[in-house]
Amino acid sequence: MSAAGSMPGRWRSAWRALWDRRDTGRSGSERGVAGRAASHPRALLIEQLIGGLPSPAIVLDRDTRVIAFNTAATGIAPALRRGEPALITLRMPELVDAIRRAGKTGEVQRVEFFERVPLDRWFEAFVTPVTLDDGAGASDILMMTFNDLTPLRRIEEMRVDFIANASHELRTPLAALLGFIETLQGPARNDPAAREKFLGIMQGQAARMARLIDDLLSLSRIELNAHLPPSAAVDLAPLVRQVADGLQTLARDRQVEIKMVTPAEPLVVRGDRDELIRALENLVENALKYGAAGKRVEITLSRALTRAGLPEARIAVRDHGPGIAPEHLPRLTERFYRVDVADSRAQGGTGLGLALVKHVLNRHGGRVSIESVPGRGATFTMHLPLRTGVGGETKELS
Ligand code: ADP
Repeated sequence: MSAAGSMPGRWRSAWRALWDRRDTGRSGSERGVAGRAASHPRALLIEQLIGGLPSPAIVLDRDTRVIAFNTAATGIAPALRRGEPALITLRMPELVDAIRRAGKTGEVQRVEFFERVPLDRWFEAFVTPVTLDDGAGASDILMMTFNDLTPLRRIEEMRVDFIANASHELRTPLAALLGFIETLQGPARNDPAAREKFLGIMQGQAARMARLIDDLLSLSRIELNAHLPPSAAVDLAPLVRQVADGLQTLARDRQVEIKMVTPAEPLVVRGDRDELIRALENLVENALKYGAAGKRVEITLSRALTRAGLPEARIAVRDHGPGIAPEHLPRLTERFYRVDVADSRAQGGTGLGLALVKHVLNRHGGRVSIESVPGRGATFTMHLPLRTGVGGETKELS
């Protein structure tokens, strides 16, 4: 087989001659034999060849009838039938145009198209004219291959959304700062009381920008290392104690009591200590901020089994505050997602805390789970695998 698009000129003109004969050189009876394409002499071979491809592939004869297609292709065009005209079955106009152009020019055509049903999906398709020549005679076919661009598009959309959100989050405190600077330079220039008050607000806004940048940098650092599993041994009980001690001041401010439950035996995971501290701090801080009304926060470290029966360490942070309505739960770990934006800002939140927690746990081969009953508090649990799995061994750390 040779792709006409990459053929030397001599072959390309032969291919074109074959293609042109399709419209002009043949009699009606020759053209109209029903099912002829289905019994294309090489149909079986072609089908075997494309059957093993993971991406959708469809092969047409020179009358643009379907000779063969693989299972993946039925995901794009469920109505495909061997021997039937592809231009009717494949209803995407961009693809139909590309098939016509490839037939006319003998050159590879690339198109992108979008499918709404059953789900939004983007594809790129290559329509490649190919001449099959086994010495006994040449026949020209069109080979269509498809790539699913949906994951790439989704990443691109997320990137654009992320930049828009981050800029918006930074612009708000920046606008406040600029406003106060103007006021201090103008009307409040000689008003010491106003100056004191405004400087306090400005400090708060600047701190918010610093927190945001700090969280953004942490997120990107964790993402950069996402494919490097952490290797240090981390004993979890002292880590939990350190986080709880570090947040005692905030707990006292909010009049919340932190209770800790840790097992007698050590629980050691492979991890990045700083990242795990950061993740747990976020969860405990949230419990103290959003669940303060419940007056108690419990941090429980335990050993448990995953759904697959593998040993894992769990750190559950439970508060007894207002809880979270179920419709928010699946989106809480998205960047900048908040249940109540004003409340989050008032608490000094950036909307990045739980995204950070999720990324830290992903990097550790674990996950975060969230349970909540509105009115009865929320429990955020960090799940960390207790097996190393490095180099094929699945020894447990101790
Ligand atoms: P933020 O910086 O806003 O705290 P997070 O990503 O840490 O961002 O949390 C996202 C949102 O999840 C918060 O704005 C809040 O609405 C909600 N949330 C997080 N933890 C709790 C909790 N313990 N109780 C109630 N709501 C919570």
